[in-house]
Amino acid sequence: MSQAKAYAATSATTPLAPFTFERRTLREDDVNIDILYCGVCHSDIHTVESDWGPSEYPVVPGHEIIGKVTAVGNKVSQYKIGDIVGVGCMVDSCQHCAHCAADLEQYCDNGAVGTYGGHDLIDSTLTYGGYSDHIVVREKFVLSIPETLELSKAAPLLCAGITTYSPLRHNGIKAGDKVGVLGMGGLGHMGVKFAKAFGAEVTIFTRSESKIAEAKRQGADHVIVSTDEAQMKAAAMTFDYLLDTIPVQHDLNPYLSVLKVDGTHILVGLIEPVEPPVHAGNLVMKRRILTGSLIGGIAETQEMLNFCAEHNIECDAEMINIQDINEAYQRMKKGDVKYRFIIDMKSLKD
Ligand code: NDP
Ligand code: ZN
Repeated sequence: MSQAKAYAATSATTPLAPFTFERRTLREDDVNIDILYCGVCHSDIHTVESDWGPSEYPVVPGHEIIGKVTAVGNKVSQYKIGDIVGVGCMVDSCQHCAHCAADLEQYCDNGAVGTYGGHDLIDSTLTYGGYSDHIVVREKFVLSIPETLELSKAAPLLCAGITTYSPLRHNGIKAGDKVGVLGMGGLGHMGVKFAKAFGAEVTIFTRSESKIAEAKRQGADHVIVSTDEAQMKAAAMTFDYLLDTIPVQHDLNPYLSVLKVDGTHILVGLIEPVEPPVHAGNLVMKRRILTGSLIGGIAETQEMLNFCAEHNIECDAEMINIQDINEAYQRMKKGDVKYRFIIDMKSLKD
């Protein structure tokens, strides 16, 4: 066992605060990683605040982890001490169901183990995430970080990156497709970059007029202010795909109306339940598809990291100290982040 320093929430209503706990002793297929950077995902806030039903506390959030390997178990073959590696949203899965066999561990029939808030498959202990100085992870769930990626900006690729890359790939987004990205936050801004890299014509839907110039700088071809009814009406029946990253309940009906016949609305924002109700006519009358997507498998996450290295795709990040995490959450809830907070874990030593 090794003692870890971290920040944790001990209830849905208390701010995150310093916390120490024991990481497990390295198993033969485990990698010990000293954490350099950890991105701040809106899922961290949802979990800390028990938005998805009661969370198990303490919650040590963080599933966008970049770090350096400092020890390996004796059966580890892919990584060695000194390697720069990443860990995303899951740290284990059964490895024998059909989905694990198909490199879709996130859809493991027996439940993938979350990087935080999950239960270890061997000893059942609660998993603690990346707002900590080190983490112990099964080799199979560790990603290799290409050398050319700027390390201080790579962490968000492990969740925001793969969660937008995977559905765009799965749906076969290609040159000429008209893609709308709903919400310009951590996921949304990565969705724009990937959709552009795949050749699509990309529109950002934002509530924030102030993000118009920024969205274009990021490569979006067009911007629609979603609170402006006239702009929404003018866009009726013009999109092939929508990638919906909005983290709160919102009316899907006006968005469905901008899809063409056979258009697809992909939910990645985890809103429970969808409210107000979707009008069946918005789907039936135009054969539209409403679907969802959960992160991506480990092989696809590695593919995405390599794709980012090849295409110079990186996150737009604002570096913070761990001591600023509660303020960062408040700013994210207001949509005030450009476009991902990354915690410099050196600050945990302060
Ligand atoms: P962020 O907070 O970074 O961004 C969300 C964006 O949505 C905001 O910047 C804002 O954009 C828009 N938004 C926020 N509040 C509202 C509102 N009340 N009405 C309309 N738009 C709003 O969140 P993330 O990108 O980190 O996460 C987005 C969602 O995706 C979360 O629910 C998260 O849990 C989920 N998620 C899902 C995953 C999956 O596997 N499916 C994985 C990771 C995250 P603007 O100002 O431009 O309107
Ligand atoms: Zn996330």
